[in-house]
Amino acid sequence: MASDERATSNFIRDIIDDDLAKGTYDGRVHTRFPPEPNGYLHIGHAKSILLNYGLAQTYGGKFNLRFDDTNPTKEEEEYVNSIIEDVRWLGADWEDRLFFASDYFPQLYEWAVQLIKAGKAYVDDLTPEEIRATRGTLTEPGQESPFRNRPIEENLDLFERMKNGEFPNGAKTLRAKIDMGAGNVNLRDPVMYRVLHARHHRTGDAWCIYPMYDWAHGQSDSVEGITHSICTLEFEDHRPLYNWFLDQLGIYHPRQIEFARLDLTYTVMSKRKLLRLVQEKYVDGWDDPRMPTISGLRRRGYTPESLRDFAERVGVAKKKGSVADLALLEHCLRDDLNKRARRVMAVLDPLKVVITNYPEDRVEEIEAVNNPENAAEGTRMVPFAREIYIERDDFMEHPPAKFFRLSPGAEVRLKHAYFIRCQEAVKDAAGKIVELRCTYDPASRGGEAPDGRKVKGTLHWVSAAHAFEGEVRWYENLFSNEFPEEIAPEEAAAGKDFTAHINPHSLRILTGCRLEPMLKEARPGDRFQFLRHGYFCVDNKFSAPGRPIFNRTVGLRDTWAKLAAKD
Ligand code: ATP
Ligand code: MG
Repeated sequence: MASDERATSNFIRDIIDDDLAKGTYDGRVHTRFPPEPNGYLHIGHAKSILLNYGLAQTYGGKFNLRFDDTNPTKEEEEYVNSIIEDVRWLGADWEDRLFFASDYFPQLYEWAVQLIKAGKAYVDDLTPEEIRATRGTLTEPGQESPFRNRPIEENLDLFERMKNGEFPNGAKTLRAKIDMGAGNVNLRDPVMYRVLHARHHRTGDAWCIYPMYDWAHGQSDSVEGITHSICTLEFEDHRPLYNWFLDQLGIYHPRQIEFARLDLTYTVMSKRKLLRLVQEKYVDGWDDPRMPTISGLRRRGYTPESLRDFAERVGVAKKKGSVADLALLEHCLRDDLNKRARRVMAVLDPLKVVITNYPEDRVEEIEAVNNPENAAEGTRMVPFAREIYIERDDFMEHPPAKFFRLSPGAEVRLKHAYFIRCQEAVKDAAGKIVELRCTYDPASRGGEAPDGRKVKGTLHWVSAAHAFEGEVRWYENLFSNEFPEEIAPEEAAAGKDFTAHINPHSLRILTGCRLEPMLKEARPGDRFQFLRHGYFCVDNKFSAPGRPIFNRTVGLRDTWAKLAAKD
């Protein structure tokens, strides 16, 4: 792909350039990533993190990490920790600016009192259901609450008593007094506080009223002096409300900019759906290598660099548009792994080969290039001996035309080693091939015959006595459907949802694989290219020292490069 096709500039930069030219924020650029700690981060969040951090870097500005932790019932410490780890792994640096909206609870409370005093907020006795029922619709205005015109003193008294724990959950709310007839439903006296006797992961039992996200979010950005509050499009209709709050309080105004959220083919992205996959055990956790979570991608073998490349290539859109192609993400990954992953030999479905004219007690150390794309990676020695394993499907007793691998009488090259010719296939009583008997050409060491004779097939192999037996987890897409959330009407009628599109073959556990000896020492997170199979990464959850488990990261076939070449 030509570099000018990359989305290097975007409409957000244009806005920032314009602000800088006008001196709107005294030349400052200050962005943030504001997750709610109610789940693990996914690749959509990665897009947002890299966008916000990237802008701060481009403009020599600052980047904050702030948890919008206003909902104690759904939020957990585990999520906070995973988010911190993920943002750090992506390479976004918040320096000393790690914040929590819960740190601002006292300030938000004071601001609420300020609005009550100004006659701009009131305590409502309607239940949450009644509030919803009187909110109106897109075409009909809402109805004013009978408590809307309470005197200021009474509101102040009730609000304080809400804070002091005098009322049960749901008994009262604090609402902004804006306009029940507003065309934008977000302006129809939105709830600012609810009574909720729940323990908060940071503030403990200090509060029994909690601010709504909409009341906390804009003010938190204001407190932090954020210049450009970048968020996804669903917040466009909330912007007038955020502006209203900031105007009424007369405090510093960031500029909110919305962009289209990232979607990806073969993937569901909402935290609610990802949580279901975890709870209903379709996967082994939020960090399952099939999950689009950052921790899942990391476990699968993705690199931060490949995600950064992908985020840059998909760019930012102002309007909801197309869904990013999983093939592009995988292309970015291969591009990066191609440079950094060592080529090694792993036989996943072993078939023994005895080289009958090779001395029984001899072991040769054969030099193998670690990465032809990167000479600095050097070479390593691989043991070769009389008994080796090759891939079972690299042999066919009755091959079709153009089968260039091994068959009776055929000659192939063993990668880095010798030419071998198949003399005989040995079968067991059931007729299954259990061993091949071959001869080798001692003159072909290194994989070239001195007489210039050519072979078309090159096979990977391991020495039977030196290889170690290990486990490989062969992952495919979790969903077999390109758009898993699209459910046909008859499927929906039958009660089916996105889980109906789960690929039943998304994980195959391959045991008894025979792997090159050096792989025994591989450490969690190490990445390799298994020649002819694809890229693999040592699992960071279930591996043990000397017993690595290899996750299949991605295959070698690049469908994206093929598509791009056609254009
Ligand atoms: P989800 O809808 O997936 O559950 P969320 O929006 O509720 O996610 P938050 O923790 O509120 O999750 O998101 C933090 C930030 O990440 C927000 O600024 C949000 O706009 C952004 N974000 C969330 N999903 C995406 C996405 N798919 N693409 C880009 N940015 C996203
Ligand atoms: Mg959200």
